[in-house]
Amino acid sequence: MSQTANLPVPVRYRNLIGGEQAEPSNGKWIASLNPYTGKVWADVPRCGPADVDAAVKAAYAAFQSPAWAGLKPTARGKLLLRLSELIDREAERLAIIEVRDNGKLMAEMLGQVRYLSEWYRYFGGLADKIEGSVIPTDKSAMFNYTRHEPLGVVVAITPWNSPLLLLGWKLAPALAAGNTVVVKPSEYTSASTLEFVKLFHEAGFPPGVVNTVTGYGAEVGDALVTHPLVAKIAFTGGDMTGAHIGQLAAKHIKKVTLELGGKSPNIVFDDANLDDALMGVIAGIFGASGQTCIAGSRLLVQRSAHDQFVEKLVAFARTAHLGDPALATTQVGPITTLPHRDKVLGYIDIARGEGARCVLGGGRPSDPALSEGWFVEPTIFVGVDNQMRIAQEEVFGPVLSVIPFDDEADAIRIANDINFGLAAGVWTRNISRAFLMSERLQAGTVWVNTYRAVSYMSPFGGYKRSGIGRESGQEAIREYLQTKSVWMSLAEGMPNPFVLR
Ligand code: NAD
Repeated sequence: MSQTANLPVPVRYRNLIGGEQAEPSNGKWIASLNPYTGKVWADVPRCGPADVDAAVKAAYAAFQSPAWAGLKPTARGKLLLRLSELIDREAERLAIIEVRDNGKLMAEMLGQVRYLSEWYRYFGGLADKIEGSVIPTDKSAMFNYTRHEPLGVVVAITPWNSPLLLLGWKLAPALAAGNTVVVKPSEYTSASTLEFVKLFHEAGFPPGVVNTVTGYGAEVGDALVTHPLVAKIAFTGGDMTGAHIGQLAAKHIKKVTLELGGKSPNIVFDDANLDDALMGVIAGIFGASGQTCIAGSRLLVQRSAHDQFVEKLVAFARTAHLGDPALATTQVGPITTLPHRDKVLGYIDIARGEGARCVLGGGRPSDPALSEGWFVEPTIFVGVDNQMRIAQEEVFGPVLSVIPFDDEADAIRIANDINFGLAAGVWTRNISRAFLMSERLQAGTVWVNTYRAVSYMSPFGGYKRSGIGRESGQEAIREYLQTKSVWMSLAEGMPNPFVLR
């Protein structure tokens, strides 16, 4: 039975600040809409700068408190392990909230939330493995060693497409490293984050270690990024927002990691297992209705296989079942927000205007049962030139651009001829070709004969305009640490004080 169609009256969520449930100081709220019904199902606080200040101050106080700063790393790790157990326990409840808020499939969100606990487990395990080194310097009678220390207050800003998973990619390493955090979720999908952070108290975290501030980016964003007590901003979202945050952070000398958009090439050679490639292309662009940063939105097909492959692709994609995202039979859900639905439709018009030929979809579905939801049909354009806007700009929806290529060199030229560099897919049975392409593609992730695989153990991030820094894997924890070099003289007597020692 549908879990989204008959919703209770709007649920009112509050922020978590200093361990307390907090109403917005200005008394304003944002209605959270269900993308399948178009109806309000929850209210979340529409915060302003005063709430930002309270949350950052609570995080800063917690950062200095003996209850957190005095915890041994193993104890800190155990709190994360305890949290991971609570996520396992609550996964289904949290996934239902995510589906209500962002309209993605229950199968996808439940899978994500169940997998999420591994990030907290993995980084909990790393908490007591942050080791400095002793440097055998060239100075005699001198002892020099390094310490890797937390930064302080980290602001984590997340988008609407996978709220809890993308938060975990920041929160787990930030906390394992000993920081405290203020979370700013998307104004469209704040509910799951507000429900999730209630678990921190039960897990045993001291109050103030994790805080939230919901609201519009334009109303709380600058206050968060420029707050003097904030040390770092960890952001996932669009490249224009990322550029704005990066600029402000540079001006105020704050550290940043930016996980931004993509326009990833999914490259099919004629020697590939074309049935597998077909599934990989579908997963890349119609999974999550294309609302994923790693969407394989540019399909590059070797010319010799082009017509046959496109024909099969269109035939398969035509059968995709659009419907209630809460149902197991649904394959393509709605677009998360109404403005974004219109943006996706706008890109379809742009593609037509540029001369690309639409061979599937191209608008809103005609089925009256879907009329209240913000759906866009799975859409495929052929005859796309890589210089067209439809090939260069991130649509973030179920819209695929197909571009033919001749050989490896041509595929690499087209694939890399773009500002983004988040991910790429390669489909081939030729092992040398697989290695060559993996080396030459300018992307933070390359998948060979698979697509959309991620793990808490594997670093993820962008080349070029797709971002700065890495999330997941051991190197992610470094993004939340700073190195201190400590020098101790082992001998008495100071040499000439007027020259460098
Ligand atoms: P967005 O940039 O509009 O918003 C992201 C977050 O930033 C939201 O919480 C928003 O409120 C906040 N924000 C907006 N203006 C701000 C400001 N001036 N200061 C501070 N915060 C501000 O992105 P979106 O539409 O929510 O998400 C879609 C985008 O996210 C796509 O471009 C997608 O590629 C990207 N994304 C990237 C990854 C990745 O890991 N690389 C993952 C998922 C999504």
